[in-house]
Amino acid sequence: MSNDIWVLAEHQEGKVKKIIFELLSAGIDFSKKTGQEVAVLLLGSGLEEATKSLTPFADKIYLMDAPSFTPYTSDAYLASIASLIKEHQPSIFLGGATSTGKDLFPRLAMHLQTGYAPDCTGLSMGEDGKLIARRPLFGGKAFAEMAFSEARPQMATVRNNAFLVNENPDRSAKVISVPPHIDPSLLKKKVTGFEKAVGAKLDITEADIVVAAGRGIKAPENFKIIEDLADALNASVGTTRATVDEGWRDLKDQIGKSGKNISAKLYMAFGISGAIHHVLGIGTCKTVVAVDTDPNALVFNYADYGIAGDLFQIVPALTEELKRVLSSE
Ligand SMILES: Cc1cc2nc3c(=O)[nH]c(=O)nc-3n(C[C@H](O)[C@H](O)[C@H](O)COP(=O)(O)OP(=O)(O)OC[C@H]3O[C@@H](n4cnc5c(N)ncnc54)[C@H](O)[C@@H]3O)c2cc1C
Repeated sequence: MSNDIWVLAEHQEGKVKKIIFELLSAGIDFSKKTGQEVAVLLLGSGLEEATKSLTPFADKIYLMDAPSFTPYTSDAYLASIASLIKEHQPSIFLGGATSTGKDLFPRLAMHLQTGYAPDCTGLSMGEDGKLIARRPLFGGKAFAEMAFSEARPQMATVRNNAFLVNENPDRSAKVISVPPHIDPSLLKKKVTGFEKAVGAKLDITEADIVVAAGRGIKAPENFKIIEDLADALNASVGTTRATVDEGWRDLKDQIGKSGKNISAKLYMAFGISGAIHHVLGIGTCKTVVAVDTDPNALVFNYADYGIAGDLFQIVPALTEELKRVLSSE
């Protein structure tokens, strides 16, 4: 039994996602207390760049190089990862709370008959060396701390921005090539292609800063001022269901109960009333700023900073000031 801390490395076009470095940084912190080793599982093909970027963040990289792993399908990943876990028996297995993590981890936990904490916003190590997973309930109104019973590995998927990335990782991973376990008869799903979203911005679930507008923006073309503010802050743009239903914005940018949960460091809401269905999606954002003409708007109940005012005056002025301040830094 290896007792290691494992992280599944998710990558796109050879580039490893930021959440993976966050998880590995947490793994390094835990390992300093417990003496466990940190290992990464890297599946795909043409993974030189990914391997290089992960090397300082782990003690071992288990590398499975096969074309069937790109793009991701649970059919291809499941058997290979399950057999490696059975062989090495890590204590902890972590992944990002991304579409891949949310697809793979519950299947894997079921397959391995072990515990799984989904969509966590924090992890810590108990006195007894057991993992404690913190996850939001009721859209972030309450948090549960979950400890695992005896089954191993202790599995969790974690949202972005739960941990800082270690700026000086001190590891130098040994790369271990592992033959994949792929049974072609089990590959039932086939990804036929990807359609790239228009624009180069990060998905709202991955962005550190999200700037959003709701129906108070009044017309789709007025989102230009929100886009300008987002550009000044290197932020992504979110919205409410009201504008999506109007056909002003894409569903992929909708925050809330029937949209996405975001965990941004900074969330700015303009002309958004703060309906419960919307704020359920922002419960784990670190700082919330709201601007609304109605001083009694519910959104102010969820904001750290609020301005009762007209977004059409405030947004352009804020953008200009931010540009001025940021350019002088
Ligand atoms: C089952 C279900 C699921 C839902 N899921 C979601 C979801 O996932 N996400 C979601 O967002 N909603 C969801 N909704 C809808 C939700 O209940 C609200 O209707 C919606 O969030 C309201 O969007 P809004 O804040 O943009 O619009 P409004 O509620 O109309 O608010 C607009 C705000 O803009 C302000 N305003 C107007 N002019 C200005 C100005 N010039 N400057 C500043 N402020 C101004 C107004 O004072 C108002 O507060 C769901 C509803 C249901 C029933």
